[in-house]
Amino acid sequence: MLNAALVALVMVTTASTPQAKPAQNTTCPGCGGVVSAKSPTAMVRGQNYRFCCTDCGAMVQKKPDKFLHKDGTPKNRN
Ligand SMILES: [Zn+2]
Repeated sequence: MLNAALVALVMVTTASTPQAKPAQNTTCPGCGGVVSAKSPTAMVRGQNYRFCCTDCGAMVQKKPDKFLHKDGTPKNRN
């Protein structure tokens, strides 16, 4: 009985957790450099982004308002 309740709780929790979308940006949000599918990714505000290097990822995570619009679009996107 307890286990059933626990499973139900886990299912509800999982369903209500927004899933982060896969990174789709083609330029580094930090410096505008080219990124590819093999580039490192980092999560900023619950959204994954590709970065040219992990330093850019850490930089954007530190000051997301400087590099990202409120809707999550990178400001340096062409
Ligand atoms: Zn970069």
